[in-house]
Amino acid sequence: MFDIELKSISKTFLGSDEPALNDINIEVEKGSIVTLLGPSGSGKSTTLRIIAGFERAESGSVAIAGEVVSDEVSWIPPERRGIGMVFQDYALFPHLTVFNNIGFGYKGKDRDERIKEVMKLVNLEGFEKRYPNELSGGQQQRVALARALARRPVVVLLDEPFSNLDADLRIQMRMEVKRIIKEAGATAVFVSHDQKDALSISDKIIVMRDGKVQQTGTPQEIYKNPINRFVATFIGSST
Ligand code: ADP
Ligand code: MG
Repeated sequence: MFDIELKSISKTFLGSDEPALNDINIEVEKGSIVTLLGPSGSGKSTTLRIIAGFERAESGSVAIAGEVVSDEVSWIPPERRGIGMVFQDYALFPHLTVFNNIGFGYKGKDRDERIKEVMKLVNLEGFEKRYPNELSGGQQQRVALARALARRPVVVLLDEPFSNLDADLRIQMRMEVKRIIKEAGATAVFVSHDQKDALSISDKIIVMRDGKVQQTGTPQEIYKNPINRFVATFIGSST
């Protein structure tokens, strides 16, 4: 069963000659972590934004948890897609405590309980009353993840979540993010231009270039049997 299914997604931005996405097909199995890997400009963020509903494709369809959320006739807005999102810069509210950042917009009866639960999941117990500027980069990322997971989304989308972390922290957070997503039982799509991120965190990697999918496979398959020279160079190159 797929939690995310993109069929023949294409998108050309206004004023551009080249399509940003050209016939993209993606299937993400329930409970798996899939990485969109590719160089800058390959269409990773646009794909993620189309899944989230921040952007609309010209053609093709998007289904989340078996429900079509976007095609020629239907459109379900981002807030009703059951997704949680982690942005590159974390997008925390500077004037809110960690507790209230995580609970932002959460109106459920179990709000306080749920916030405590996800704080435990991301190892932030004791940080309830801190403000974002009192936290390290890794801690800010934990807050962003906790906020994304608080409402029990079916799907978590993460766009370059490690790009603001130094090398040591990056390695540590790769494993942490993987553990947290798996423990939360979420399905995740993760965007990165770093092949080491992709190789270490993913159940499946989708290599993109110029708005097209080049290859889809497990980290091992892609590393051992790259389909063309581009994939071979990209997956083997150091950052
Ligand atoms: P990536 O995340 O892989 O770096 P993007 O999805 O951001 O790539 O961009 C894919 C292509 O679409 C690029 O050529 C980029 O310039 C273009 N693009 C992205 N967003 C916009 C936008 N809002 N308006 C016009 N062009 C855009
Ligand atoms: Mg991007």
